[in-house]
Amino acid sequence: MQDRIEGVKKLFTSKSARVETNKGESYYRDLFDQCQARLNDLRSSQPINRLDFSELLEDNGVDRRDFMKWVSATTAMLMLPPMFSPLVAEAAELMNRAPVIWLEYQDCAGNSEALLRSDGPKIDSIILDVISLEFHETLQAASGFQAEKQLEDAIETFKGKFLLFIEGSIPMGMNGQFGTIGASGETYYDNFMRISKDAAAVIAVGACATFGGVPAAAPNPTGAVGVMEILKGKPLINIPACPANPANMVGVIVHYILTGQVPELDSLLRPKFAFGYRIHDNCERRAHFDAGEYVEEWGDEGAKNNFCLYKMGCKGPMTFNNCSIVRYNEAVNWPIGVGHGCIGCSEPFFWDKYSYERVMADAKIKAPTGGVERSADEFGLGLLTAAGIGIGIHAVVSAIGGKKDEGGEA
Ligand code: SF4
Ligand code: SF4
Repeated sequence: MQDRIEGVKKLFTSKSARVETNKGESYYRDLFDQCQARLNDLRSSQPINRLDFSELLEDNGVDRRDFMKWVSATTAMLMLPPMFSPLVAEAAELMNRAPVIWLEYQDCAGNSEALLRSDGPKIDSIILDVISLEFHETLQAASGFQAEKQLEDAIETFKGKFLLFIEGSIPMGMNGQFGTIGASGETYYDNFMRISKDAAAVIAVGACATFGGVPAAAPNPTGAVGVMEILKGKPLINIPACPANPANMVGVIVHYILTGQVPELDSLLRPKFAFGYRIHDNCERRAHFDAGEYVEEWGDEGAKNNFCLYKMGCKGPMTFNNCSIVRYNEAVNWPIGVGHGCIGCSEPFFWDKYSYERVMADAKIKAPTGGVERSADEFGLGLLTAAGIGIGIHAVVSAIGGKKDEGGEA
């Protein structure tokens, strides 16, 4: 945890990440007031489930100090100034107002695993417990017809209000017959189109759901595609990587609770707060790259001295992601940190284009331009301008309040 906080702080002071801040105090004050008003609305509404975040933290041995460390890391990750920390803490406590349906198609459940499998229940995974996860076939006890009913009930109850998380690609070959669900044999494609129509927004997690991933690798026998190829007329947020970093998944949900808006996205629909950084620009081996010190062969002296992995095929110079800062497994480490080059898993078609140990120059691929220079300080743009798409969180809690008033515990 401390590593993650230090990493995020380092990012904000690093040369590559320094940006012109042209937003004054009044901008952030307005943004703060809008977020505060949203959270007040939420707090005055009924939660969807009865789970108490503070109690869960206590039950899992997470003290207030650890929680506040997580809050400051998450606030910084979302590109917000420290004054927003109390609001981020409040947003975490109000996670039980967010209805989520999580569907898996052509996947390995690696993104769900990444979110769940820490060495003990940590804050990101506790947050997953607190959100109102109405359907997740890997995690839920229900199966068969009972599970199908649970899904249909959730869609009906939260029509137009739920966040739809998609893990895995969607096979389009043979009229979608490579992937079907349930006794009716509904194809993944039909299932996705039917359910996404009633979602407030769709969040594609992992390389497969975003850009097709490994199932879409040549020769792509099932005609696998990512969600962005087929979704029309709905807000979509892509959180690629293999697996998607749990911190980024939680960051998107915190942003949703805080603002009810889709965060600022790049041209591939990735949140800029997470994908506005090039791996190479914040890599701990960058000084060796600049000095021309490379690993030339696995196990050589360069490898022992943590030299740059460029000549071993590292694709960090062309990959946008924040894993060099946020890291994986509760900030314990990340791929380059343990000695293997980046394989560009958060970029489209990474399996065919990037995931081999061949030097970029030999592979005749060009590094992209852009990135970190224009990412910071853009968090609030979606909220204060017309660019962001509202996803109606107030309507969610109002609807639930109404349902309760009609006589039931939701
Ligand atoms: S290891 Fe990769 S990302 Fe790091 S400095 Fe070298 S080429 Fe760049
Ligand atoms: S270092 Fe590269 S391949 Fe590894 S997780 Fe990050 S983006 Fe993916």
